[in-house]
Amino acid sequence: MRFLLSCKQAHQMVSEGMDRRLPFSARTRLQLHLSMCKACTNFNQQMQSLRQAMRELPRHLGSDQRQDPP
Ligand SMILES: [Zn+2]
Repeated sequence: MRFLLSCKQAHQMVSEGMDRRLPFSARTRLQLHLSMCKACTNFNQQMQSLRQAMRELPRHLGSDQRQDPP
């Protein structure tokens, strides 16, 4: 396994990291790539702010906790 990630791999990891916690080794490699790559740092920040925005959406927009009005 190559230690250095390609940008494509880094993007994949950032996306996966949104849904589940990455293994320590994966996170370390991702952090290393982010420390060297401005493009992926920007991508990572966009994903983080996107996730933050999703959290702040009103709950009734979520499909899993549907609440019909009386
Ligand atoms: Zn990159």
